[in-house]
Amino acid sequence: MIKKTYITAFARIGEKRELKKALESYWAKEISFEEVEKTASILKKRHWKYQQEAGIDYISSNDFSLYDNMLDTALMLGAVPKRFKHLKEQSLYFAMARGDKERTAMEMTKWFNTNYHYIVPELSKEDSYKLYADKILNEYNEAKSAGIKTKINLIGPITFLGLSKRVDRGDCYEFLGKITPVYEELLKEISKLDDEITVQFDEPIFVKEHDTKTLSLIKPTYDRLANAASNINIAVVTYFEHSNEATKVLINTPIWAIGVDFVYGKENIDSLEDIAKSGKKLIAGIIDGRNIWKNDIQKSLRLLETIAKHIKKEDIIVSSSCSLLHSPFTLKYEQKLNDEIKRWLSFGLEKLDEVNLLSKLFFKGKSCLSEKEKIALKENLEASISKKNSPLIHDKKVQQRVRNIERFEREGEFEERIALQKKRLKYKELATTTIGSFPQTSKIRKARREYKNSQISKDEYKNIMKEYIDECIAFQEECDIEILVHGEPERNDMVEYFGERLNGFGFTQNGWVQSYGSRCVKPPFIYADISRPKAMTVEWITYAQSKTDKVVKGMLTGPVTILNWSFVRDDIKREDVSKQIALAISDEVDDLQKEGIKIIQVDEAAFKEGYPLRKSKIAHYEKWAVRDFKLAVSTAKKQTQIHTHMCYSEFNDIIRTVEAMDADVISIETARSGNELLKIFKESGYKQEIGPGVYDIHSPRIPSVDEIVEQIEKLLEVLPKERLWINPDCGLKTRKYEEVKPSLKNMVKAVKIVREKLRKN
Ligand code: GLN
Ligand code: ZN
Repeated sequence: MIKKTYITAFARIGEKRELKKALESYWAKEISFEEVEKTASILKKRHWKYQQEAGIDYISSNDFSLYDNMLDTALMLGAVPKRFKHLKEQSLYFAMARGDKERTAMEMTKWFNTNYHYIVPELSKEDSYKLYADKILNEYNEAKSAGIKTKINLIGPITFLGLSKRVDRGDCYEFLGKITPVYEELLKEISKLDDEITVQFDEPIFVKEHDTKTLSLIKPTYDRLANAASNINIAVVTYFEHSNEATKVLINTPIWAIGVDFVYGKENIDSLEDIAKSGKKLIAGIIDGRNIWKNDIQKSLRLLETIAKHIKKEDIIVSSSCSLLHSPFTLKYEQKLNDEIKRWLSFGLEKLDEVNLLSKLFFKGKSCLSEKEKIALKENLEASISKKNSPLIHDKKVQQRVRNIERFEREGEFEERIALQKKRLKYKELATTTIGSFPQTSKIRKARREYKNSQISKDEYKNIMKEYIDECIAFQEECDIEILVHGEPERNDMVEYFGERLNGFGFTQNGWVQSYGSRCVKPPFIYADISRPKAMTVEWITYAQSKTDKVVKGMLTGPVTILNWSFVRDDIKREDVSKQIALAISDEVDDLQKEGIKIIQVDEAAFKEGYPLRKSKIAHYEKWAVRDFKLAVSTAKKQTQIHTHMCYSEFNDIIRTVEAMDADVISIETARSGNELLKIFKESGYKQEIGPGVYDIHSPRIPSVDEIVEQIEKLLEVLPKERLWINPDCGLKTRKYEEVKPSLKNMVKAVKIVREKLRKN
């Protein structure tokens, strides 16, 4: 049998988030660990079976994990940080992942430019590495006894080290010589499992550019690994971008196949000649593993034809572009989607069929399709046509408005604006404010849910929200905070809220995607031209403003963040979608301002997340991302103060870009990282006002007055008091009122003490 269909890796959380539920019940001590393992085993078998039934030839084992694959890899190598050393088995595993009473968890960070977070391995010179192969070997055997011969997925040594951190000084790559022998030993163990086995090494770090150091590591490593066992075929797989530099090296190693992403790394086309010469197999990532649209089969066939001009057909394997973990599981539980829209979509399970269909069409031709496949092909072609013309997607008015934008930015230079604003708003030096949300109570959650399900009337709902706002305003006044917020009780999520009020957004019932461990997110999707049918926030903000003489900030989410936290249509450019969102937000800014709101915050929490993986593409991203933030606030009058908030502390690389966004005030997340990182604002001559978070809202701990005084004084060493705002480091919605109240009171007290000291000096 010639094997032609390949899936990089499959999702593991389960179509009904079974793994999430099992893990969380186990952590809550409601079920035993054996029960978690039982659920895991059911899921693995079910997922293998789905792939088998869809006609996938290369199905993975070891793509499953109870928490995260990087964590699993660290454990496979025995890379356990000192503080966890005496723990064992699941206590060890979950302590590393989540911390326990005595130990802090390992750090977690984003997996490339996805919303999946991996556990960052902590390495040190003192470590000695040793193979723990059980999980990998067992999972292979588990699949085998279920009648499925899997390829084994491993995170490659270079990516593993590239994403780890050293707890002592030094470079993680120094340890390559130490871990490669462990990988070799692992391959020897794997080789005993069967006559012939395929091992997939994930090396996504290869998509980052100009890293000659990393490049020089590739050949010696893969020469060794490919020679470790004669019955193992090694595939090295990259995704999310092109990896042409690495491919040039890999073709000269004795590996069996190279897997590349043709969806997010179109430039991989340039490597075809090299791969052809090497005689290696090409695993062609064509079905988009991280978006939700049906594949355009005709376009994909054309791409395969192009590939086949260089590479012999027998050496081509059709694959997903990356792990299907990054897309929702299946469409089969979506009952509320509009039928036409639903026909345009394809989630994880449906993508399996697409890989199969594309491969059959390409290698065998239309006449070999089964009846079911013929119908799928017909539906696919119909979907492409309907998307091109559907009035659900194309809104002439929006398109025309975008074409005729006259004003891309607001009037007036910062210096002129801030002078007017200070005169109008009369806030003091070290003005106090918060980031927007206040604690989400069970009462407001329940009210939102019941209103959505039509269990309570609009008036009842509004009254509950207004009651919350009343209390929120009264509380902020009691604390003596200067610039108030309404507390965001009506919002479930800062992107979903706006998506639900804009045309062009769709929502799923079950489109969950793993974010980390047991946590999933359900991003909205943008399928059409975006417009704002009516004001989205004005009623709440003006209500809050009517309850106080102090200034209440309007609170919006910015275009770039809305884009980065949604699945985005792929028939027009991202930057064109972003522009449409920006226009909608600019209307909201205008409405708020007309209703007398004097400060408007436009959050760009996810601005940094959208950065491309390749440096050469950054300038382009920055250009349109800045353009659209400015467009979103272009309606603001000079005297209307625009704030923004970003959930980051590291601004070294992007300070000029943030400055170019030209917000009058930015609040950022410094509390956890000290002042070192703030220096960039001084050194770069950043001119706008800044509110570095003075305490960490991610912890339940209540900061003392003294501690905040000290923090403010440290800030004053780096930033002038005229431009310094005092606020917590992020929204308060995940905290409890018992924590928030004393914390904010202490914050205001601290400010008063510092002001007094400044006055005396
Ligand atoms: N205004 C939002 C809030 O306070 C900002 C959230 C965020 O930064 N992620 O909740
Ligand atoms: Zn934040």
